[in-house]
Amino acid sequence: MKVCVLPALSDNYMYLVVDEKTQEAAIVDPVEPEKVVDAVKKEGVKLTTVLTTHHHWDHAGGNEELAGLVKGLTVCGGDDRIGALNKKVGHDDKLKVGNLDVKCLFTPCHTSGHICYLVHGEPSAVFTGDTLFVAGCGKFFEGRPPEMYKALVEILGILPKDTLVYCGHEYTENNLKYAVHVEPGNPDVYKAIEWAKSKRHANEPTVPSTIGDELKFNPFMRVQEESVKRYAGKSDPIDVMGHIRRDKDKFRAKR
Ligand SMILES: [Zn+2]
Repeated sequence: MKVCVLPALSDNYMYLVVDEKTQEAAIVDPVEPEKVVDAVKKEGVKLTTVLTTHHHWDHAGGNEELAGLVKGLTVCGGDDRIGALNKKVGHDDKLKVGNLDVKCLFTPCHTSGHICYLVHGEPSAVFTGDTLFVAGCGKFFEGRPPEMYKALVEILGILPKDTLVYCGHEYTENNLKYAVHVEPGNPDVYKAIEWAKSKRHANEPTVPSTIGDELKFNPFMRVQEESVKRYAGKSDPIDVMGHIRRDKDKFRAKR
């Protein structure tokens, strides 16, 4: 599997996922269709599939135009509000892109129809949209803490640690400011801050991270850790999830 990171809008990422055996490809969240068509030409691949994480405009807003530019696309997603949708998917549904096996993970909370896509490989890669960010998670627009807990801890958190994480936005440096506020005693957060700084300084994206990395420094993946519970002043990890999400919403607003 080859993954091309395509920056879009001000801080979104689209991803061209290529099966190198068959040269078939899928695009994750093609909000800027012309950039996608250019990348497809440059890579010399056949685009067959759109993997839409959720219906928000900055992810799904290019679907209809892309479906007009590239005929015969299978447009996947978990929400009827997604443009050009012709393959509605749910939890554990399986797809093929060339020889690549893709598994759909239903992770509602940011939106009620959010899907993450796990592409099997060595290592595997998971495309997490606005559910899991590097060092953070999406806002709970259409869900509640138990749903994000399930998504981050019980679905994404149990993937193999070397699974590559490709998220929907470049929010890493800001997310890490909050992570260090929650866990000032966690050395992995400081390592991540240095890593993100050097990446951004070189004008490179901070994707991918890995599930193993996120378990070390992402407070929303760490709601079962004593240090995060202590910060939140709560013992139930779902209550911790709710608390730190509300807290981070305020924290970001201050900056
Ligand atoms: Zn969104």
